[in-house]
Amino acid sequence: MGLSGWGYWMFIPAFFIFIGGFQQLYRNYKYKQVVKSALAQRNFQGTYKLEHIALEIGMRSRDLLRVLLDLRNKGLVKYSFNVETGEIILGQPITYKPATEYIPPSKKLDEPLPTEGKNFCVYCGHKLEATGNFCPNCGSKL
Ligand SMILES: [Zn+2]
Repeated sequence: MGLSGWGYWMFIPAFFIFIGGFQQLYRNYKYKQVVKSALAQRNFQGTYKLEHIALEIGMRSRDLLRVLLDLRNKGLVKYSFNVETGEIILGQPITYKPATEYIPPSKKLDEPLPTEGKNFCVYCGHKLEATGNFCPNCGSKL
C-alpha cells in the first residue's frame, strides 16, 4: 500500500476526533441552556448555595462554575460571591480587577494553593478589598 493509501485510512481516527469535538461542543451548549434556565427560574436574583443549584441540575459544582463564568464573560448573567459564605449572589455584578502580581495557576491542581499574605485571589487574580473566606469574583475558597 502506498502513502496515499495510508492517507485514506487516517480518515478513521480523524472522524472520531471530529465526533469527540462535536460532543464536547454539544455538552457545553446543553450545560449552558440548563444553567440559564435554572437561573431564569430564580429571576436572576437572590443568594443561593452553589452546591444546591449544581445538585438540582445534576452538574458538578466546578462544571457549574465554569459555565457560569462563561455566561458572565459573554454578558448573559451577572453575579458575584458572598466573601463570608461563598454563596452566589445573582444579579449583583462585579468588576474584575486583576492584581499585577497574579500568576495564573495550572488547570489541574492537586492541592489548594497557599493564600497567606496574598491580597488577591490566587485562582483568578482578583484584588481583594476585604478579608473573607471566598473570592467575590470566582467563588474559590481562600
Ligand atoms: Zn477568584
